[in-house]
Amino acid sequence: MAQETVPDEVAQTERAAFRAELLASGMLIDGGVDGLYQRSGAFERIVRGVEAVASQAGAGIGGPQRYFSPLMAKAAFERTDYLRSFPDLIGAIGVFRGTDADHTALLRAAHAGEDWTAFLTPADVALCSAACHSLYSTLPATIPEGGLRYEVQGYCFRHEPSIDPVRMQSFRMHEFVCVGEAEDAVTHRNAWLERGLEVLAGLGLDVQAEEANDPFFGRAGRMLAANQREMTLKFEITSPVSTSQVRTAIASANYHESHFGGTFGLTAIDGGVAHSSCFGFGLERICLALLARHGMNPDQWPESVRSALWR
Ligand code: ZN
Repeated sequence: MAQETVPDEVAQTERAAFRAELLASGMLIDGGVDGLYQRSGAFERIVRGVEAVASQAGAGIGGPQRYFSPLMAKAAFERTDYLRSFPDLIGAIGVFRGTDADHTALLRAAHAGEDWTAFLTPADVALCSAACHSLYSTLPATIPEGGLRYEVQGYCFRHEPSIDPVRMQSFRMHEFVCVGEAEDAVTHRNAWLERGLEVLAGLGLDVQAEEANDPFFGRAGRMLAANQREMTLKFEITSPVSTSQVRTAIASANYHESHFGGTFGLTAIDGGVAHSSCFGFGLERICLALLARHGMNPDQWPESVRSALWR
């Protein structure tokens, strides 16, 4: 997460210009609200190249692959604790379960420009906030010795509408997740931070690792964020993307301690609550970083980058 403490006019101007360039070149198509885009074939080709490079970095060590829906079971979503920590970012799904009369009322409201969603009721699915969240509810209650590793990918929803192209409401994360004993999780996190830096530097990006914290909500959240920094639980790999003024996180390496092990009831082989960690490549943000670095025409990118992405 970029951390601006004061409004920065230069940064805002640069972000608007980058967005305009992405739209004018046809890389992205405005999805109708801030932070929502349709992707061109050219953009998606870059994303798939990045995905292949990430996957290749995990070949033989990443574990089974899982590709997740943008939706997850609401019961599993509740266990992630996102409700407590990031209520301002979440999204839930409403569905229509009414009668003919309710339908008539809904249409009347929609026609009158009123809030027709008031006629919906909550579904048993929620929008996924982070790719690895979908994994934990499917793991065995006792994690075998040495831990479990998975390579996962999924759509994430974050309600933070912005004109900054790096802040999309809907995006994909390609993650490498480890669940096991504390040492398994920390070793995994640290190894992937190094590997991630190599992978991204290999694409010609100006990257560095930085200690970071998540944007926890509210007063209690400030303490959680301070603790996260103090315990160095989170690192981000940052790069200049939409502005020269602030570096943007394009990947993150997170040690969750026993958080998900506790809420999902996972036990490590030592009998304690399982620990977990994940390393996530932000696919859209890496794609944007490449476009910012190498230009809007991938045919003119350096040969080393092209051959890495599309071998
Ligand atoms: Zn994760």
